[in-house]
Amino acid sequence: MSGVVDGARGETYLDHNATTPPLPAVVEAVVRALRDDFGNPSSSHGAGERARRTVESAREAVAALVRARPTEIVFTSCATESTNTALWSAWIASGRKPGSKLAISAVEHEATIETARAIALQGAVVVVLPVDRDGRLDLVRAEELLTPDVFACAAMYANNETGVLLPVERLGELCRARGVSLHVDAVQAVGKVELDVERIGCDYLSLSAHKVHGPKGVGVLYARRGARFRRLLAGGPQEGARRGGTENVPGIAGLGAAAVHMSAGIGARCAKLAAFSARIERELLVLPDTRLNGAQDGRLPGVANISFKGIEGSSVVVTAARDGVCVSAGSACSASALAGSHVLEAMGAPYEWLHGAVRISCAETTSDEDVERGTAVIARAVAYLRGLDPERMAARRG
Ligand code: PLP
Repeated sequence: MSGVVDGARGETYLDHNATTPPLPAVVEAVVRALRDDFGNPSSSHGAGERARRTVESAREAVAALVRARPTEIVFTSCATESTNTALWSAWIASGRKPGSKLAISAVEHEATIETARAIALQGAVVVVLPVDRDGRLDLVRAEELLTPDVFACAAMYANNETGVLLPVERLGELCRARGVSLHVDAVQAVGKVELDVERIGCDYLSLSAHKVHGPKGVGVLYARRGARFRRLLAGGPQEGARRGGTENVPGIAGLGAAAVHMSAGIGARCAKLAAFSARIERELLVLPDTRLNGAQDGRLPGVANISFKGIEGSSVVVTAARDGVCVSAGSACSASALAGSHVLEAMGAPYEWLHGAVRISCAETTSDEDVERGTAVIARAVAYLRGLDPERMAARRG
């Protein structure tokens, strides 16, 4: 895709689950809004009206992307803020009864885990819905654990580390039948699955612009009409009095352009991404002592989470980075921590596999050459690091 900044610094960027490069149409929309729509969208004059129109047209594009009504879309600063708002809304509106339960899947992003922790400090009990070895949600256990004292459930549409899909529509049915609020983190799934908030039956859904070639600092919270809502940021009546603070007009304009792009061509995008992940797996799983983390089927295309036994995934990342290849060990938020991934741990991955995980993630802006070069550099890094391991060398000799 011409004009996209991938590779602009001679890098091979294969870390799109962390963030994505902006599309040319996004950059244009941001610059146009920054330059021309500088008015305050709340102002009652021409400049304000122009900014308001830009914000509302982005709202329509985002609503179309998830099949919601524009009035159900709230712009925030990031998906983390959206998730915080959704879960705190559900907790406060439920009456904050000590001991009432918040159910979250075992593989949620830190945005959900930490919000749940904070709500637990207020008296809620966090119930963890387990996954199996392949990262699939255990629906039988979920059904048992979604008891009448659960006030809300939080589940991601697709996991950011493995790409494994969670059965959010089934969770929607279970939650509806029990009167439980459901929040879906669709940050990684958007643009790769046909999102339909009515079909999912969720009360809340979070998105992040920077994961879909939009700018950083912009998120979306879908809140179903009539869903319990308590705003996190008190202030002016912006966003239908659901989020105080003057809207980030350039960021929202960029998100609108990204949403228009992501709404179309999902099939072709997925086919391209599937070919990339298949190739990555083909090239890397032939190396000895290697395994794919996460179900082979029922996974987002374009992401491969591969463990290299006996070495640290973070060492592979640093070694590959020296050759200009950008990948990550787990999620960008936790990759710098030395602890193993909580996602792989929840999947029961043994220690030696847990620490050797590397996530390689593509986008439609990725090229065949990126994949070819990226996998070659990773394979070289693995061989180099394994060669450094004295025990392994001794075992090989022995
Ligand atoms: N949820 C998932 C699944 C993510 O991958 C991320 C980002 O890594 C987030 C939430 C948080 O998004 P944001 O950076 O917009 O707060």
